[in-house]
Amino acid sequence: MQTQLFCAKTQKENGTSLGGRIIRNGGLVAFPTETVYGLGANGLDGEAVNKIFEAKGRPNDNPLILHIAKKSDVKQLWKHIPDEARRLMDAFWPGPLTIIYLKSDIVPDEVTAGLDTVAVRMPDNKTALALIRAAGVPIAAPSANLSGKPSPTTAEHVLEDMDGRIDMVLDGGPCRVGVESTVISLVGKPRILRPGGITKEMLEQVIGTVEVSAAVLNPLPEGAKAESPGMKHKHYSPDCDVLVALGEPKTAANIIIREYGIAENDGKSCIIFATEQTKGYYRGKKYVIIGDRDQPETLCANLFDALREESHGVDIIFAEGIPTDHEGLAYMNRLLRAAGFTVLDK
Ligand code: AMP
Ligand code: MG
Repeated sequence: MQTQLFCAKTQKENGTSLGGRIIRNGGLVAFPTETVYGLGANGLDGEAVNKIFEAKGRPNDNPLILHIAKKSDVKQLWKHIPDEARRLMDAFWPGPLTIIYLKSDIVPDEVTAGLDTVAVRMPDNKTALALIRAAGVPIAAPSANLSGKPSPTTAEHVLEDMDGRIDMVLDGGPCRVGVESTVISLVGKPRILRPGGITKEMLEQVIGTVEVSAAVLNPLPEGAKAESPGMKHKHYSPDCDVLVALGEPKTAANIIIREYGIAENDGKSCIIFATEQTKGYYRGKKYVIIGDRDQPETLCANLFDALREESHGVDIIFAEGIPTDHEGLAYMNRLLRAAGFTVLDK
C-alpha cells in the first residue's frame, strides 16, 4: 500500500475531502488533532475499524475513541446524554476531553472491544473537524503510532511508524497539547481513567468531585481487571530504557547525576530530560530541556517528541518526576508508563 502525504495548510480542501472519501470507502487516514495524530477509520463500519488494529498491531481488546464534528452527533452514539456529560461538553468541547458513557446500538463491537460503553470526543483542530465532516460519519481513531511506541505529535512521526500501512497522512504541523485526551467515565461516579490536557481541577469546577483511577500513577496489580483496557498494555516506549527520579528538583537531579555516572562507567550512552529549573545541575552531561516545571503543559507538549528523537543511539533516558497536580498528572502518567514504572532509589 502507498501512503499519500498531504499538507493540510496548503492543500486543505483537497486533502480533507479526499481523506473523507477514503474513510467512507473503508480506508485509513492519519490526521492531526490538538492532542496527538489520530489514525482514523469509519467508526460505524466494523471491518474498517479492524484495519486500525491491524495497521497498529494494537491488541483488539483495547477500545477506540469515536471523534465527532458537532456536539449533537453524540446523541446517536450514546443511549442518552447524562446531565454531567452535557455540562462537560459545553465547557470543554471541542477540546482534549473524551467522555465514556453507555453505547447505542449503532456503535459496532469492534470500536468498543465488546464493552457496553463508548468513548466520544470532539477534537479542537480545524483539519480534524473538516475531515470528520467530509467523511460524514464518526471517525474511530487511536493514536497513529505502532502499538507500544510513543504517540506521534508530527506527520513525520506518523510516517516513521505507518508508512506503507495506511492510505493517507494529513500533515497539520506539530500538535499543541502533545499528550492524548483526558478520558473520563460517567458510568457511575465521574472518574478519570486517563489524565490529559483537561485537568482534574478543571473538570471539578464544572461537575464537582472527580475520582482518579489508581492505575493512572501505578502499575496494574497482577491479575487485576483494568477499568480501561488500555491500562494493562505496554505504552509509550522508546527504543531505550527510561528511568525516573522522584523528589524535589535538587534531590531528583542528584539521583540522576549519580546514576548517569554509574551507567557511563558501564559504557552506556545516556541523556537527561532536564527542565528550565534544573538544567544548571547537568553541566558537562548530555541533556535536553523538555520544558518548564512550573508550566507542566510545556513538558507534556514535548515529551513524546523527545522520547522518539532522543532515543536514537541512546541506552538510557533519565527524567525527573514533577508534582502531579494540574497537567503534571498527565505528564507523570505518560512518563511513568514509558519507564515501565521504573523509579530510581534515593
Ligand atoms: P487511544 O486510542 O490510544 O487514545 O486510547 C484510548 C484509551 O481510551 C485507551 O486507553 C482505551 O482503553 C480507553 N477507552 C476507550 N474506550 C473505552 C471504554 N469504553 N471504556 C474504558 N476505556 C476506554
Ligand atoms: Mg495510543
